[in-house]
Amino acid sequence: MRTYVLLVNVVAVGASLSTAWLVPVTRTDLLRFGVLAVCAAAAIEATRHIERQREYNRAATVAYVDTKAVWSIAAVIALPAVLATAMVVFTYAVAWWRIWPRERPVLPHRWIFSAASVLCGTQAAICVLALGMHHYPGVLASGFLPGLTDLAVIVLACGLRWAINTALVMAAIALSSAPRSLSELFAGFGDQLLEAGAIGLGLVTAALLLLANPLLLAGVVLALVALHRGLLLTQFQRDARTDVTTGLATKRWWRTVAEQYLDRARSGQGTVGVLLLDLDHFKAINDTYGHPTGDLVLREIAIALCAEVREQDMCGRWGGEEFAIVLPNVPSEEHLGQLADRIRCRVPQVVVALPDRDTVISDLTVSIGCALYPAEHLSSIDDVLVASDTALYRAKQAGRNRVELATR
Ligand code: GH3
Ligand code: MG
Ligand code: MG
Repeated sequence: MRTYVLLVNVVAVGASLSTAWLVPVTRTDLLRFGVLAVCAAAAIEATRHIERQREYNRAATVAYVDTKAVWSIAAVIALPAVLATAMVVFTYAVAWWRIWPRERPVLPHRWIFSAASVLCGTQAAICVLALGMHHYPGVLASGFLPGLTDLAVIVLACGLRWAINTALVMAAIALSSAPRSLSELFAGFGDQLLEAGAIGLGLVTAALLLLANPLLLAGVVLALVALHRGLLLTQFQRDARTDVTTGLATKRWWRTVAEQYLDRARSGQGTVGVLLLDLDHFKAINDTYGHPTGDLVLREIAIALCAEVREQDMCGRWGGEEFAIVLPNVPSEEHLGQLADRIRCRVPQVVVALPDRDTVISDLTVSIGCALYPAEHLSSIDDVLVASDTALYRAKQAGRNRVELATR
């Protein structure tokens, strides 16, 4: 891993130095660089709180994507190579300085590597532009066909920059920890659309810088700030679907998914099993060890439940110490009962060690009520829930630590 990171850093510096002499820098270029730098700093400043939240909430296996590319893409197209390189370094430095609070700094070597991988992609883009554009650095040539070829060259250059950057970062993620599945590695791929948008806006920025009054760039900064407000949407959605204590689906999200399974079963002759679980005498855990420890136990139980079911089954937190599990395509109620019994036997094995005491909590038990759709009198998710709740009530009445089927 260290060798890899070092290699990328060395290639980035080497490539940046070798393209630096491609085009001489004029005073106008320096002035334009200054204008871009001011806009970049303003945009980073205005969006830094949102970026901080996005970075903290990012899964470790997902490449972090942001909109700094707007400014470095504009520089790659409109300014001499050495200033394009300088813009990457500048935006990364400002982001590093402004986004991270002093008490929780991000390791510098990570940011240096991120900047280095962008620099590698940037140098490749510079080569493509220098070879293919009618006038480099500059925006599209006038005339339809020359303009079209220039546009194709720019798209190719930006695509190459993106591909090299993404490949380098993903390789680092794959190398930095235990082998990951490919699907996990590509989990944040939806974010890449953001990068594509940033590239498009970068081209517009380059055109404004070279052809129009640079004051218009304030509009680009404003657009970026507005865009960022929408960026937290996926995060909010994920938060709304996840119960904070257990990490399971919230009641509302669980219901939505269960309803979808029921619709599918209705049209495709499938089945849907529902289990309602209620821990036995859980109040005693809270009374003995305190509420926070109770929460810890709930979390461990939730992990155990998820480990016992298939990937397509969904566990949700139904209430305080009540859980719901929806299982599509269970062959029969007998199968459902067997599965519930496996879960019932698994719960007492959950062991929670208390950090500041020598005690461990174990031997918890659970009562479970099960219902399988389709069955007589069951036509909606509410019917199925009432049926499993009634069965759960019977399990409690019969002495707890039991499984009861709705049709029994
Ligand atoms: P039984 O179900 O066997 O009848 O007994 P019980 O003691 O589990 O009774 P019940 O299901 O009615 O109790 C719910 C208890 O769960 C009450 C409360 O102390 C606890 N509880 C509910 N929500 C939470 C929570 O979010 N965290 C913790 N730690 N405890 C909770
Ligand atoms: Mg309860
Ligand atoms: Mg209970």
